[in-house]
Amino acid sequence: MTSTGPDKPGDKAAPGTPGTGENLCPRCRGSGRIESGPCPDCAGTGKVTEPIGGA
Ligand SMILES: [Zn+2]
Repeated sequence: MTSTGPDKPGDKAAPGTPGTGENLCPRCRGSGRIESGPCPDCAGTGKVTEPIGGA
């Protein structure tokens, strides 16, 4: 993978993009896991990168 885009499926923006930041992953609520195993959206990190200041 390169560093030019989001590195996790749940990311809305690439890490380090101005105006974005890490948020708790809404899918696993920050646990990094869902019932069947590691959360695919945040790659098990429990966090996703999203725009700040939105809803
Ligand atoms: Zn997650």
